[in-house]
Amino acid sequence: MASRTLTGTGATPRSGLGTVVWYDPEITLPDADESVGIDAERDRFADAVETARAELEREREATTERIGEDEAAIFDAHIQFLEDPTIKDAVEEGITEGQAAALAVDDAFAGHIEQFEGMEGRMAERADDLRDVRDRLLRLLTGGERVNLAALPEGSVVLTERLTPSDTAQLDPETVAGFATVTGGRTSHAAIFARSLALPAVVGLGDELNDVADGTEVVVDGDAGELLVEPGKAERDAARRGEGADVIEEPVETSDGREIAVAANVGRPEELEPAAARGADGVGLYRTEFLFLDRQSPPEEDEQYEAIRDALDTFPDGHVVVRTLDIGGDKQIPYLNLPEEENPFLGERGIRRSLDPDAELFRTQLRALLRAAADGAGELNVMFPLVATVEELENAIAAVDDAAADLDDRGVDYERPSLGVMVETPSAVFMADEFAKRVDFLSIGTNDLTQYVMAADRENERVREHHDPTHPGVVRAIGRTVEQAHANDARVGMCGEMAGNPDVAELLVGLGLDELSMSAVTIPDVKVAVSETESNSARGRADSARRVATRSEVHDLLP
Ligand code: PEP
Ligand code: MG
Repeated sequence: MASRTLTGTGATPRSGLGTVVWYDPEITLPDADESVGIDAERDRFADAVETARAELEREREATTERIGEDEAAIFDAHIQFLEDPTIKDAVEEGITEGQAAALAVDDAFAGHIEQFEGMEGRMAERADDLRDVRDRLLRLLTGGERVNLAALPEGSVVLTERLTPSDTAQLDPETVAGFATVTGGRTSHAAIFARSLALPAVVGLGDELNDVADGTEVVVDGDAGELLVEPGKAERDAARRGEGADVIEEPVETSDGREIAVAANVGRPEELEPAAARGADGVGLYRTEFLFLDRQSPPEEDEQYEAIRDALDTFPDGHVVVRTLDIGGDKQIPYLNLPEEENPFLGERGIRRSLDPDAELFRTQLRALLRAAADGAGELNVMFPLVATVEELENAIAAVDDAAADLDDRGVDYERPSLGVMVETPSAVFMADEFAKRVDFLSIGTNDLTQYVMAADRENERVREHHDPTHPGVVRAIGRTVEQAHANDARVGMCGEMAGNPDVAELLVGLGLDELSMSAVTIPDVKVAVSETESNSARGRADSARRVATRSEVHDLLP
């Protein structure tokens, strides 16, 4: 038993065992009257901006090489903040009024940081990016040392208030055993980088983390979202096993010969090769909205065509399930001017936006997809997010017809892909039979489905217990969806986080799912779990899981 267990949010479903190294980029600001003169402070500020830009460009290059072009794009955003005229003017004004440059920088960023902190989801994470840029300037202006995160001793677990994207990009997964932070959420850039690097990470552990001293042995359990302080032997062994299973390249079947596709969830072209390398049979969810984030305008049809064609060429013998744009909720895109909504998760999200007001964007995307389907090596499947009504589905299918007509007019080659619907709303569960009659496949998105079935915000730590897909209400919803899909000759997969949990693989196979799709990191573990499953006994367990009344009774049926 660990002497203490702190609970936060798992960012990467991996475990790591190591020794705490606190990363505390403390900066001491000068006193109010420490200006060395207006001109000299102005020069110091200009030099700091110049050096910061050079550093950011270097880090951008290094990140492109180590992680990927899309992850590196965050440094462009930092350069933009660095050159933001309103911030620059505010610093100049402070200096002119007699402030030292460092103090003027601190003041100039404060208002902007506060403004972003008051927003939701990804916009709130912009506050982290602004802090990153501010701290870089302050370090240069105050002569503060930068801790070299790239040269930590082997087996270090980095603890810190928050990690910025630049910090995370420096961590070497070969030597660092993991990291844990006081603040931050699962979708912060630091968490996304951690997943790309398969680095064990838990974020948002709260102030209690500050009591864990340098040099303490800890387990970062990114699966459970826990930090185990001074772990016992069993926990240390489990963390070592947390390294995961060996890659299985071929498709797997249950011990009695039922083939289950084990596919990857991706959001960017850079994630395709790593997914294939971890044994993905294909892509079960391509979150195309990621192609629209961190830029100033939407990608053109050709750029989208290239990205999807890339995916199809990466899996010539498999299929790639592309989800059309899923914007809204926690996924905000500044240039689309999304409305301010009281309850964005219950608002204009997913297919609702694609039918209107983003109909043009949707049609462009569909044209890109139809063209890629004709030219790419693998088989393209396209599915629509957050569908709640048959009318929405029929309108989405009509939009595919319109896109095909555009391409006919242009005389361009295209192919109609298989179509599918995500089951993410209670309505979709009840209407699964009607949906299945109209499309080739359904895909259960348990992240949203759990949120709506349980009325528990997927982002809200306070209702974490409720946002759990092993609640019988969710298990029954999954069972019913699979039954209705199969009764109407549609395949059915799962692409929510639940599918990547090897402990529920037997249950999911027993419920009848044909495909499980997940973050690439857990593919080998799920492939092992599927191949150790026997269909009949899995079905028996699943039937029991659909009958029990409590979550703990469902858990009793898991390995
Ligand atoms: C889901 O809701 O389960 C899902 C896969 O979609 P996303 O996580 O992108 O909302
Ligand atoms: Mg969803």
